Amino acid sequence: MTDRTPAEQAPRKGYVYIAGAGPGDPELMTIKADRALREADVILFDDLVLPQMLEAYKAEKIYTGKRKDAHHFAQDEINQEIVRHALLGKTVVRLKGGDPFIFGRGGEEIETLRQHGIDYEIIPGITAAHGASAYSEIPLTMRKVSSSVAFCTGHPVNKIQVPDTDTIVYYMVASNVHDVLDKVAASGRSGETMVAVVQNATRYNQRVFTGTLDEFRKRERAVYSPALLIIGQNINQYIEQTWYSRKKKVLMTGGDVKKYDPANWITVHFPCRQVAGADLDAVKRCMGKIDDFSMLFFQNRFAVTYFFKYLFEHGKDVRHLAHMTICTSSRTAASELLEYGIIPDCCLESEGSSTISGLLGKEGLTGQNILLPGAENVDEAVSAELKSAGNSVTPLTVYVHGAQDKGDAIDLDFIDEIYFASPACVRKFRELYGEIPARITVAPADANTREEYSRLFGA
Ligand code: SAH
Repeated sequence: MTDRTPAEQAPRKGYVYIAGAGPGDPELMTIKADRALREADVILFDDLVLPQMLEAYKAEKIYTGKRKDAHHFAQDEINQEIVRHALLGKTVVRLKGGDPFIFGRGGEEIETLRQHGIDYEIIPGITAAHGASAYSEIPLTMRKVSSSVAFCTGHPVNKIQVPDTDTIVYYMVASNVHDVLDKVAASGRSGETMVAVVQNATRYNQRVFTGTLDEFRKRERAVYSPALLIIGQNINQYIEQTWYSRKKKVLMTGGDVKKYDPANWITVHFPCRQVAGADLDAVKRCMGKIDDFSMLFFQNRFAVTYFFKYLFEHGKDVRHLAHMTICTSSRTAASELLEYGIIPDCCLESEGSSTISGLLGKEGLTGQNILLPGAENVDEAVSAELKSAGNSVTPLTVYVHGAQDKGDAIDLDFIDEIYFASPACVRKFRELYGEIPARITVAPADANTREEYSRLFGA
């Protein structure tokens, strides 16, 4: 008999992390938030959290923002959703842009959790004001210039306050920046007071505008969200060539980010692969009869990642694959497999699919019932190769080269170089963006990719 406290005997309620993701630069997320996200079964994330920051995590991801094509969650619904998952015994991360307690409604969410007796903890994040300040070299306080700072909201208009601090940072100013400026002027600050707008702070497309209060009030220019308005004399510190603006920006369509030294480069992700559109019925059928397959063949790491996502979603794990021979045709897929505790039986390393049947023959792999997870349509050549080596093959779409949301489109004006990881990425890019401005340099990963680039862009 073990002594158990009543709490241990009760059915486990889940655990909730209310966490901040920081203002945009993925490296500004805390190590603690990263750990929570790894642990999570479910991640509920906001508009301000860039989806690329979540790619690495295996949890179910639920978007709770306000994008037009998605269901709009009211705050009540979000609270209920957090509670629902927690009561199922899951570990939930409620991930918000910046810090959860700075205009993040974290306070309301913990109130609901308290009511339901659900355990939680709060992980702070770098708030937009701190990100904007550091990445635009505008200190929020400074000896002899500014000895106090306030964070205020610019929305709704009747809540706009003008506290008597040296520096004021306004959040939520996009559509009503003029209302804020008018109130600041009306409070008696001089027209010469310095003003800065920092748009997309800490992101690749960060923009900073500065001027005096009078100048800004005369300007028509719209401010695009997300943006902050900073008011105070410390803005005189601002210089156009900041440490952040000096960095070059590379658009990575995949591949190894380490190729670009972070001292000189900002990496912008262009996901040319997406999970949306996987054949869920076929996935379900295959997961249901996984015992019938004798071999798994992975062509790339995305096939691995998405295959396991579905395996887990169907309540199975690596033990259900114990009877199988597991092969890959790429090293990155092999190292991805290691993440799941699997050392592949063979890694058929060859460029081009033409030699795969030969390699399989060498390994004595014939008469197998092969499950081939991958993207839509692109596995036909490999499938034919596997068949010609005397195997039966079931291709399974676990991800597609899906269309990107327009809202996620990359602004090429900010990009200096594009790294193409594969011919498929070149095609995807061509389809979405058409041309590449001449100013941008292009780095293809290998000869095949270079060829596809020349073919499609005539370069
Ligand atoms: N909890 C968040 C704020 C959420 S309110 C935080 O701590 O940062 C949303 C407002 O935050 C936006 O309207 C904008 O004013 C500001 N914001 C968030 N991220 C930003 C960014 N990367 N650049 C500029 N402003 C940002």
